[in-house]
Parts: sequence; C-alpha cells; structure tokens
Amino acid sequence: MTTCFPATRLPGYSVNVPIAETCLPTAICMKTCYFARNAASWSNSLRHQRKVHASMQSDPVAFAERVAMEYDNLGLTFIRWNGGGDLFEESVTTVNYLAKMRPDLVIWVVTRVPKWAALIEQAPNVFVHFSLDKHSLARRESFLKHKPRTSNYFFSYQCDEGEVPPLENLENVAV
Ligand code: SF4
Repeated sequence: MTTCFPATRLPGYSVNVPIAETCLPTAICMKTCYFARNAASWSNSLRHQRKVHASMQSDPVAFAERVAMEYDNLGLTFIRWNGGGDLFEESVTTVNYLAKMRPDLVIWVVTRVPKWAALIEQAPNVFVHFSLDKHSLARRESFLKHKPRTSNYFFSYQCDEGEVPPLENLENVAV
C-alpha cells in the first residue's frame, strides 16, 4: 500500500484520511473543500483513505515507519499531513513518534481541530498549520486554551467566495 499520495491541487505529497471520520467541517469547508469533490472523492481514493485511517488506528508506530520509508523512497523534502481529512488520536501519536524517530523529516500538519492540534509535540521538524475562516475564528482560542505542546504553529485564514475579510479577522493570522 502506498501511504503518501501526491497532494491533489497542492504541492508535494500528503497523508490523507477520510473527511467523514476525521474532519470538523465549517460552512466554508462545505462550499470549498476540494477533497470532497475531485478524484480524492472517488471510490478508489476513499478506499485508500480508509485503509490509511485504519492502519494508523491499529498501529501508529508501524504506520510512522511506513511513512518514513516512503519519504525516503520518493526523495521527499517535506510531507503534508492531512492533504484531506484531519487529525485524530492515533494520527497525533503517529506524527509525534515519526518526528522523534526521524528528525530529518519535515512534517507540515494542516488541521482545523483544536484538541488534537494541541497535542502535537514540540519538534523542530514539525509545523502545525491551523486553518481558520469566518465561521471558525473561535477555534483559535480553543486551540490556545488546550495549551499547545508545540510553539511551531501558525494560523491561516480561508476566505469565503467573494469575501473581503474585515481586518479584525486577520489579526494573528500568518497567511
Ligand atoms: S478540514 Fe479540509 S479536508 Fe476537511 S472538510 Fe474542511 S476543507 Fe475538507
């Protein structure tokens, strides 16, 4: 099984899991989620995402080792965690284990789920990209209230179609 897939419409390779089982979608997600629409939503891709999800749930350490092997085989310079889907308990375990096992790997964790994002541990090679939008600004506070274990995090803001965001929505947002 190939674990790392070319990230659809995104640069690089990603680890993808099913939206339905892992995401905490916002109203913007409903309108703009590319992962729910294109080839990533086809049955073969969904089957693969379910296998990845189940593999991490059953053995996070083995899954981390598998990702490390594929990272090397593909000659990657970084990997995106959650090209589609989001964090869950065992994926946090996987990322934390992988980061320590292989400090030379660069892991870009994209998430919208405060409680799991806060459990990603400090590591120089792991970056937490917390995605916000006008419906989910409160998740920033929720993430901070959960006392993140890493200081390597930043927030991005995703606009709705045609939205010109008020400046206050962009406070504390990096991109
Ligand atoms: S968090 Fe990302 S993958 Fe999940 S529903 Fe929202 S846009 Fe789609």
